[in-house]
Amino acid sequence: MKKTKCAACDCGLGPDAISVKLGGKMVEICCEECPEALKEAQNAATAAVATSKD
Ligand SMILES: [Zn+2]
Repeated sequence: MKKTKCAACDCGLGPDAISVKLGGKMVEICCEECPEALKEAQNAATAAVATSKD
């Protein structure tokens, strides 16, 4: 049996799991808000890397 966890909050996924494309790969999340937080974190990280290069 495959155990899946939300890519954002690490909670267990049930039949209501949602698949979204994030960063070029499919991830499964428990609710629509989860990938939004992930995206923001990813964008912030990307921006930080970009700006840290000067
Ligand atoms: Zn979640």
